[in-house]
Amino acid sequence: MRIRFLISALLLCSCIRNPATGKLELDLVSHDQEVQMGQQAKLDTEQTLGVYKEKPALNDYVAALGKDLAAVSTEPQDPFSYEIVEDSAVNAFALPGGPIFVTRGILGYLNTEAELAAVMGHETGHVCAHHSANQMSKAELAQVGLGLGAAISPTLGSLAQAAGAGLQLLFLKYSRDDETQADELGFRFMTKAGYDPKQMLPLFTMLDGVTKQAGGGKTPAWLETHPNPGNRFEATQNRLKNEFKGSTEGMKVKRDEYLKAIDGIVFGEDPRQGYFKGDTFLDPSLKFQWTLPKGWAHQNSPQAVAAQSPKQDAILQLQAAGKMSPEEAAQKLFSQQGIVQGQPVDVHGAKIARSFQAKTQQGSIEGVAAFIPYQGSTYMLIGYTAAGGLAGYGDTFLSSMSSFGELKDASALNAQPARVKIVHLDAPMSVADFNAKYPSTIKADLLALINGVEAGGQIAAGHAKQIVGGVQK
Ligand SMILES: [Zn+2]
Repeated sequence: MRIRFLISALLLCSCIRNPATGKLELDLVSHDQEVQMGQQAKLDTEQTLGVYKEKPALNDYVAALGKDLAAVSTEPQDPFSYEIVEDSAVNAFALPGGPIFVTRGILGYLNTEAELAAVMGHETGHVCAHHSANQMSKAELAQVGLGLGAAISPTLGSLAQAAGAGLQLLFLKYSRDDETQADELGFRFMTKAGYDPKQMLPLFTMLDGVTKQAGGGKTPAWLETHPNPGNRFEATQNRLKNEFKGSTEGMKVKRDEYLKAIDGIVFGEDPRQGYFKGDTFLDPSLKFQWTLPKGWAHQNSPQAVAAQSPKQDAILQLQAAGKMSPEEAAQKLFSQQGIVQGQPVDVHGAKIARSFQAKTQQGSIEGVAAFIPYQGSTYMLIGYTAAGGLAGYGDTFLSSMSSFGELKDASALNAQPARVKIVHLDAPMSVADFNAKYPSTIKADLLALINGVEAGGQIAAGHAKQIVGGVQK
């Protein structure tokens, strides 16, 4: 829906001088539109990913730090907001016009308030330089392929959760030049707010470490959207020498304050919101399990569990239809324009299960929808593929859907997340000694990384992070 809005916005394109960069540039959307889209995407993000709510004081802490950065930025009048999004990935992102999110995941990897200021300063820089707006316009122009899930969204409407504008924005990628500029602005903003800009260096070391530990072939979330400009370490050192000059003595680092603020936060995926054990999805709070086809890529979001075939030509997804009866939920789906219901099919436990065809702007699709009543709610399972593909995928859809059932395993039902525990150290300690004395449920390499030291390094006296609890997968 918003894509069309954007394309009409192109007609209004104008050149404006960007106060962050001092350059004239072609902004494809007006500032008002930028702010408006950003606010809509912020709501989408809050609803689709959710805000981390367990520690209200930590939300206040992040918001207060953000307020200080926004005040010294080049766009202090913009409606900035700084929130913690419930996502275990190490990431942060900015939406057009001011909304900024740091993930719950990145907070467990940082060690000082100044490092957090560097992350948030960088994102504030993207907003001030209007990178997302430029990027979004380019992306819309290029009609970025968003996969089958998004392609059919105009027809399935709210049923295809992957198509939210907020999520599309998350997957946009900045250019390397944008990254360099956001680093530069972040450096300036954090310095103006009184934070030691040298603390950008351990942040970049940590992000590099996340990349290395993720291993070949797997791109960490941060890099997906913020590609490494390559020389950011040297560039920061040059800025320290040529731009900052002088000493950083007495500037804010705030290690202890930061660690105290994150004590007890969830580390890694939160199994209480559902988790995968192999190909089976287990949901302890809703007490169900569902087995997906072998080898499919899967994803759990607050709205849906979805999986995509290895060839990326078929999707299976599950959503709660709430208190609606199976009949009402089926009626709601099949009464949508462009959808034609077909023959009844056999899905274990389903009150209604039928094949369907649908016309979308990108072409015709066909699939199976099943409505299963379970513990007072209705669950809707949909499998779909391009027209002509159902003969090949039908059995796979039906056998996966038929696996939906009660979660009985007691340990799965009581699954608890791993948490960060802040431990006081009287003297420096090697990572190995620390792990022996205060055992963590993560690998030693990762433990070193989140404590900001090399694998064989020493953790300084003061405070250190231990990771306790969590589920074995
Ligand atoms: Zn960036």
